[in-house]
Amino acid sequence: MTTAFYSHPDCRRHDMGRGHPECPQRLDAIDDYLLAKGVDIALDRREAPLVALSDLALAHSSGYVAELSDLLDQVSSSGQPCALDPDTIASPGSLVAVMRAAGAAVAATDAVLDGTVENAFCSVRPPGHHATRESAMGFCFFNNVAVAARHALDVRGLERVAIVDFDVHHGNGTEDIIANDERVLMVSIFQHPLYPYSGGVPKGTNMVNLPIAPYTRGPEVRALIEANWMPRLEAFRPQMIFVSAGFDAHRDDDLGQLGLVEADYQWMTEQIKAVADRHANGRIVSCLEGGYNLRALARSVAAHLRVLAGV
Ligand SMILES: [Zn+2]
Repeated sequence: MTTAFYSHPDCRRHDMGRGHPECPQRLDAIDDYLLAKGVDIALDRREAPLVALSDLALAHSSGYVAELSDLLDQVSSSGQPCALDPDTIASPGSLVAVMRAAGAAVAATDAVLDGTVENAFCSVRPPGHHATRESAMGFCFFNNVAVAARHALDVRGLERVAIVDFDVHHGNGTEDIIANDERVLMVSIFQHPLYPYSGGVPKGTNMVNLPIAPYTRGPEVRALIEANWMPRLEAFRPQMIFVSAGFDAHRDDDLGQLGLVEADYQWMTEQIKAVADRHANGRIVSCLEGGYNLRALARSVAAHLRVLAGV
């Protein structure tokens, strides 16, 4: 089995300013740890291409795609940063990073569907799961996972795909895009209440939202997942699974107050992989979302990748 690892140096060029937790060093921390621990040799490293605008328009309105790409292009040529919301800042390097992040997700989807690799991880930024059909927010510009899921359905002809989101924040953008698209089942956990303060009531029957109280730890989260995600995933029989892999529910991450550790990320990945093996020929595309304590992020990504790569 082979696991592809999609990334690109351009993803480090998106810079939201000194002290911002969603920083370029996140990708360096992941790379360094994977090399130091020998996980890197099990991965097939691939360069993330730029996304096609037509793929972005599968998940976003064509007006938003044009408006945001124009704005990022202007910021790139003027050299003047522009805040889209108080936490989401376009910098001169953002255009290429944003296009590579979504491009990685789409290319990974094609590689997995073509059977050249069994599964793939996209070590990219900016993240995507807060980006709605019509707007950027919460460090996110385009919704990488939703774009890739729609590419699998609309371009590659799959009939059922699942999205699993274990970031500490609710994936409101993904929900906004795929709620009531019955070709998609989205299962998620997230701390509640916490930014963006949504998700308590699911927006569609294809959403399995598990709001979790602050300070909840791994064993309780696992029990909730077993009781709520697994029966729905089994019944849905996804032909491919997309993962919004945020690692900010880690005990050491200051952006949330959940108590997950590396072993919990390993366990969740094993559950996802078991469903993929039973129903989807093992097909998984996982995309980095949050995770802001650099050391915990790197260790958690390694735990996730060890399961994906079977090492
Ligand atoms: Zn997050």
